[in-house]
Amino acid sequence: MHQARTTCPYCGVGCGVRADIEDGRLHGVEGDGDHPANYGRLCVKGSALAETLGSHGRLTRPRVDGVEVDWDTALDAVAERLQATRDTAGEGALAAYLSGQLLTEDYYVANKLFKGFLGTPHLDTNSRLCMASAVAAYKRALGADAVPCSYEDLEEAELVVLVGSNLAWNHPVLYQRLRTAKMRNPLMRVVVIDPRVTDTCEIADLYLGLRPGSDARLFNGLLAWMADKGRLDRLYLERHTQGVEAALAAAREDDAAVEAIAADCDLDPERLETFFYWFASQLHVVTLYSQGINQSSSGTDKCQAIINCHLAGGKIGLPGAGPFSITGQPNAMGGREVGGLANQLAAHMDYDSPGAIDRVTRFWATETLVPTLPEGPGHKAVELFEAIERGEVRALWVMATNPAVSLPDADRVRAALAKCPLVIVSECMADTDLLPYADIVLPASSWSEKDGTVTNSERRISRQRGLLPPPGEARHDWWIVCEVARRLGYGEAFAYEHPAEIFVEHARLSGFENDGNRIFDISALAELDREAYDALAPVQWPVTRAAPRGTTRLFEDGRFATADGLARLMPVRPRGPAQALGESRPLRLNTGRVRDQWHTMTRTARAPRLMNHRAEPFVEITPEDAATFGVGDQQLARLTGAGGEYRGRVRLTKGQRRGEVFVPMHWTDRFSGAARAGRLLAAHLDPISGQPETKHGAVALAAL
Ligand code: SF4
Repeated sequence: MHQARTTCPYCGVGCGVRADIEDGRLHGVEGDGDHPANYGRLCVKGSALAETLGSHGRLTRPRVDGVEVDWDTALDAVAERLQATRDTAGEGALAAYLSGQLLTEDYYVANKLFKGFLGTPHLDTNSRLCMASAVAAYKRALGADAVPCSYEDLEEAELVVLVGSNLAWNHPVLYQRLRTAKMRNPLMRVVVIDPRVTDTCEIADLYLGLRPGSDARLFNGLLAWMADKGRLDRLYLERHTQGVEAALAAAREDDAAVEAIAADCDLDPERLETFFYWFASQLHVVTLYSQGINQSSSGTDKCQAIINCHLAGGKIGLPGAGPFSITGQPNAMGGREVGGLANQLAAHMDYDSPGAIDRVTRFWATETLVPTLPEGPGHKAVELFEAIERGEVRALWVMATNPAVSLPDADRVRAALAKCPLVIVSECMADTDLLPYADIVLPASSWSEKDGTVTNSERRISRQRGLLPPPGEARHDWWIVCEVARRLGYGEAFAYEHPAEIFVEHARLSGFENDGNRIFDISALAELDREAYDALAPVQWPVTRAAPRGTTRLFEDGRFATADGLARLMPVRPRGPAQALGESRPLRLNTGRVRDQWHTMTRTARAPRLMNHRAEPFVEITPEDAATFGVGDQQLARLTGAGGEYRGRVRLTKGQRRGEVFVPMHWTDRFSGAARAGRLLAAHLDPISGQPETKHGAVALAAL
């Protein structure tokens, strides 16, 4: 038996794992006591990792047009059909849809192939569904998609505000860290702002169960309250920011009296003012926000409203202070680093970053190959499938995700996929809702087999290590992409033999012609050889010559990543959910994860103890609403939404607000004939980030 160190594949906390290996099998896992994300802790999902492995149900052979083939045949088919599509319909007819489950090295080569050498901008990722609004707001306010905080800031804060985050279920180890810190420091306060009473409320000193979608109104109100009470940090604002007056003017367009804000947010005014007072009185405040903020048609503005308050109080760049977006997926952050979003180019450079297109072109050029980068951004996730529906995108390569389930209005997505002349799917599992739409199926390696890096929510890059051989003929995603690139004639630019070489190139690009004006810089890792890469200890970017051990906290000197170094407060005008309630659909729908499941349950459903927590799809509702709609506890009920029906068992709860229902997002058609939450949602997008509004559906409820 020997022990190997790796990283948990489930959530954005990014816990270190020690795995016991013997005779080519993984026998058990425990938390890595030396990993700074978790210091030995694991949640129930992470501790069940060994129970979810095995070759049963895995995809082990490539398939072309439904026929099993060898790898050469499959890779030739991918290359030939991509080339044929480009020849007949142009590079804009090609697209890729990636995933926060991919490792950074997989992401890097896919981005390089599609944007760099195939010349299409249409490469996006399911991270668009998770944190695109947080990215857009950080860029707008701070000048870069750069999370300023670290997990230790949660422990050092005097006040932690959790907004739109059920940390106890969705980031359990971080919740454990916060709970322990609160026990150790009785002066620490926690405020939970969430329409639902969740397990996270167990540590709350104050709970604000606001009206869904009213978050921007609440934080605008806080900004105006701080100004009225003389609680702005005028010196900080003057030295380090611009835009406060415009932001304040917008905040005051609505009645700024506490009673009026409370009425709009459906809160008790006294409790609301208590929160305002606590926020304004403490310097060391962390506001941690997640999908409850991001998954909205005004998510970018909601994030901005939070950031405005932190800037206005000078509560950023200090220990225990800052606006902290926490990501859902294990490598949502790593994907952002290499350009995995359609509006990004590479290494945190956008198309409009000065000189970026030319810089990346020269960096990726080889002796005989010059990449042809697109001139501007491509389609964001939902728009991408609309472009497929219109017939503009005619070849799609999906890697490690399942848009047939996870996107809103997923039946429309399925119809678009059915029309698409070429769908290539790289996938680990043999039976998913997406595979029936695939012309070419490529079996990919999975967690415990893949080798590379991930970046967690606090910018910490960690190694995920290959511990076991992939089953059958499954191959690593980076290898598959490089083999296709070689067949397309780009072999010279994709001549990697090991993920270490890809990572080093990525690190070099981050430092290429970077005179300190680009905050994403890991150039101090650009000299790693394979041995050093394999031994790489978890480290937070930037990792530069000046900070070779990484960087715990950003913007400590008050200089931001904008051209003039000033952060931007922006005017925010609150907007309610785009999906309107009405007579036919009177209930507000909220969707989310349950504690023990991950995404579409391809892995977590394999562990009986994880299934025990919530064994079947459900509909959470108050007893009062249940009586109104004629459904009883544990009875089967039907929700009807924008794109169809959802069936689940009623769970009565006092933690739900009147007029609202909650359903889990995990169940797919494979597990249940009609419990796919994506069917209930219309595809309304945030106009800046392109993130869909998956927290605010409109549904009807009836007994089955
Ligand atoms: Fe894995 Fe997240 Fe649990 Fe940590 S908190 S063990 S990363 S699922």
